[in-house]
Order: sequence, then structure tokens, then C-alpha cells
Amino acid sequence: MSFGDYGGRYVPETLIPALDELERGWRDALADDSFRAELHNLLTTYAGRPTPLTLAERFAPSKRLYLKREDLLHTGAHKLNTALGQAVLARRLGKRRIVAETGAGQHGVATATVCARFGFECVVYMGEEDMRRQRPNVERMGLLGAEVRGVDFGTRTLKEATSEAIRDWITNVETTHYLIGSCVGPAPYPEIVAELQSVIGREAREQILAVEQRLPEAVIACVGGGSNAIGLFHGFLEDEDVRLVGVEAAGAASLGSGRAAVLHGARSSVLADEDGQIADAHSISAGLDYPGVGPEHAFLRDSGRAEYQVATDEEALAGFQDLARSEGILPALEPAHALARARELDAELILVGLSGRGDKDLAEVLERL
Ligand SMILES: *Cc1c(COP(=O)(O)O)cnc(C)c1O
Repeated sequence: MSFGDYGGRYVPETLIPALDELERGWRDALADDSFRAELHNLLTTYAGRPTPLTLAERFAPSKRLYLKREDLLHTGAHKLNTALGQAVLARRLGKRRIVAETGAGQHGVATATVCARFGFECVVYMGEEDMRRQRPNVERMGLLGAEVRGVDFGTRTLKEATSEAIRDWITNVETTHYLIGSCVGPAPYPEIVAELQSVIGREAREQILAVEQRLPEAVIACVGGGSNAIGLFHGFLEDEDVRLVGVEAAGAASLGSGRAAVLHGARSSVLADEDGQIADAHSISAGLDYPGVGPEHAFLRDSGRAEYQVATDEEALAGFQDLARSEGILPALEPAHALARARELDAELILVGLSGRGDKDLAEVLERL
């Protein structure tokens, strides 16, 4: 798979054999019915798929706005889809130690969960600012048997945690699988994560056709690294009349205000200055607080197939509160960005990716309100 000028492998030489091995392992797995069957079984009997589609009648009374409920997946966000798939893949490759990065902590929790389920050793890197913002998830990872290593440099958020996870992987590449949480990183990671998340879009397309007998006019999702959005978009890429809309945090708009640069092993659209120095991102939601984005999104933006908007912290908070009071659903702050833009879209039938639940964000929201 190719994403135009984006993607690639900008990594130290020592990682190339591991990426080759991963790519081969992934191709073999895709061609193997037993891999697909095991993953399908885990997704249905362990994770809780298919997730439902909910019509948000009171949230958007003038529209037919449906929520794809990844918040109801085990562990509370879409991250489990890719964690399960990569865990099965890691076992096929003979790796029994997993490293991961986490921002909001949802990917760390999903990774710790699958490591417990598969009996793998698990180390999760997390910025200390994020550990403060997402305390309950840090505690969850500990209870699941993972070791959380705090990262105390730079902005002490996802960017630094990712750099540390990559450093660990380089050192322990023989025994360790790096379980990336979004559609970022060197090839073949963006493709693997997109494929593992595309179950969201496949289900949603079938579900909306079943209730509405037509496709949505627009599909909208929040974009941090971009995995929940790409998973949803993949269900509708070939449906040219369906608008695909990604929503970034206004202070972390890698697609809206970034430039082509290399970050964490791939070329994409990145918040950077003219010399390629990475700029700091800022968002109320730890999961969107990242200066990069998956290369496929940069490609979809340039080709015009998808469009990207932004929402501010205040707009996300308003979206959070409105969904809570009108539908009885506390969304994560990340998809609250998509909710904020969804209501204003010039479309009647809309599908919104509700990527996760808001429990992890309660302290942050209460402090801001
Ligand atoms: C991690 C996370 C995100 C951002 O990651 P993407 O790869 O852009 O999906 C969005 N929503 C929730 C609930 C998350 O946990």
C-alpha cells in the first residue's frame, strides 16, 4: 500500500529486519483463515463486537445523526481492535514481550489487557503530564499487570512517550513487539492498524444501510494519530458521494496547519517549523495531543477524498456536556471534538465515530467546568 509521498520507513538500520519480519508476518496472517477466525472470535466473544449504532435524536433533533459506539467496546475505546490483532500477530512472530506508548491511556489499557489475556510481559511508556491527566487509566494498567514507565522530558506527553517506546524497541527488538496504537509509525504499521480498525467502518456501513436503506451523507470522526477515523473511513472510501470529515484539536492540527516532515519513522503532515523542528501540540484531550498524524490521512487530504476541520477545547467541552445531557452518554473528550463539528455539518444523515467513553476524562472536565 502506498500513500503518495507520505509514509515510508525513516528508522535506524537496526529496525529494518524487524519491520521486514513484521510485514511478512502480516501478509501471512492476512492470507491465513485461522488468523482471521481467531481474531473474529476474540472480537465477538471478548471485545463485544459488533458495537451498536445509536440514533442521537435529542442531541441533533434536526438531523438523523448516528453514533458508532466504540465507547461500548471492552476497555472503553476502539484501541482494543488493534491491540487484539497485533497480539495475535506478535504470538505468530514468537514475541512475548510488548512495548507500547500511550497518551490518553486508552491504548495503554488496551495493550495491558491483551497482554494479560495472552500472558505477555508489558511495558507502557506514558508522559508524566498525561499520567496526571489520566490517573484512572494509569491505575488500571497497574492492576492488569503492566509496568507503566513515566516519561519526564519535553512536553511530557504522547510525542515523548512514543520516542521512548521506539528506543526500547530498538534495544530489545529480538524479543519484543512494538504495539503501536494508531495508524502512524514506519511501514507497515499504518497499514496494519488501518486494516485492524476498518472493522468499525465495515460494521457501520452495514448497520446504517439496514436502518436507513441508504448511505450517510457524511461520516465524521476525531483525528489524533487518526486510527478511529481511518477505520471508519475505510468502510466508505469507495462510496464517492459520502463526505469523509476528520476533526483535529485546534492546538494539534497536524493536517490543518502542518507541513510535510518526518516524525516517529514516517513522512506525514506534521506540526513543525521550516527546518523540520517539531512544534508542541496542545489539546484538552490527551489522545489528540500529538503533533503528527498517520500518512494515509495526509494522502486523503491532498487527494481531496477527505476533508479536515478543527474544534477548540471549549467546543469539545460543550459537545461533551451536550451529549451527556441529551443522550445520557459521557463521551471521551477526543470524539467530543467530532460531535462539536457534526451538528453544524450541512448534511442530514450523519455518522459520527464515538471512539471512546468519558470516564477517563472526568477529573479534567470537572476541573475545567
Ligand atoms: C486514542 C484515542 C483517540 C485518538 O487516536 P486515533 O488514532 O486518532 O483514533 C481518539 N479517541 C479515543 C477515545 C482515544 O482513546
